[in-house]
Amino acid sequence: MYISSLAKKGFTGLVNLAYPPFCVICNKKVLHTRQDLLICEGCFNKIKKNPPPYCKKCGRSLSGLADNVQICWECSERSFHYERSWSCFLYDGVVKDAIHLLKYSKKVSLTNLFCFLLTGFLRENTEILKDIDGILAVPLHAVKLREREFNQAHMLTEAIVKEFNTSDFSGCLRRIAATAPQSGLDRNKRFDNVKGTFAVTGSRPMRGKNLLIVDDLFTTGATLNECAGVLSKAGAKTIRCLTFARGS
Ligand SMILES: [Zn+2]
Ligand SMILES: [Zn+2]
Repeated sequence: MYISSLAKKGFTGLVNLAYPPFCVICNKKVLHTRQDLLICEGCFNKIKKNPPPYCKKCGRSLSGLADNVQICWECSERSFHYERSWSCFLYDGVVKDAIHLLKYSKKVSLTNLFCFLLTGFLRENTEILKDIDGILAVPLHAVKLREREFNQAHMLTEAIVKEFNTSDFSGCLRRIAATAPQSGLDRNKRFDNVKGTFAVTGSRPMRGKNLLIVDDLFTTGATLNECAGVLSKAGAKTIRCLTFARGS
């Protein structure tokens, strides 16, 4: 329902009827007016929204629980360096396939789709950007960045900065150590694995700033929490997190 209404609002522009692109997910012709999104209307409508309300710390949907529950059972056992986190969509089906195509098949042209969806979510959840002074992407290590050729988190950040006229603070946070992949590690080991991985660099002062950290995927929040800890130590006033998709 949400996606359909978003589609009606956003699907404007010219349609190339002679040579429509093919949907990156199912290979059918893309016949709606936002052909630059590279996804057909059928696949677009299968994108699963993360249904509100959300756990304030991990963004997990608390739909179906009592109204006064604000933090899920898992997050109630841990303290976080950020005040709140949101995830827009569920990491499943079309969203999972699209993220894999972007990250591992370097389908960079899918950026339009991610940015269209993410900015739509921010317009519907205006509290996320309220009083924010700067936005930062979770950085990749230089070696990883050379290998992948782009940082998907920074692509999302750039879209938000452009659309909402905010400041990009991404250059202020650096990944100073390469870590073993988080996949395959249990929850506690993921938090240990990223310790000491990030550092604040650059001349832009963090003191007193309200910051938003952006990444593509939320799994346990270990990486975002580590970034938030470093920013908090550097004097940031408040830190929020936003991820495109929420893994289970
Ligand atoms: Zn399709
Ligand atoms: Zn939670």
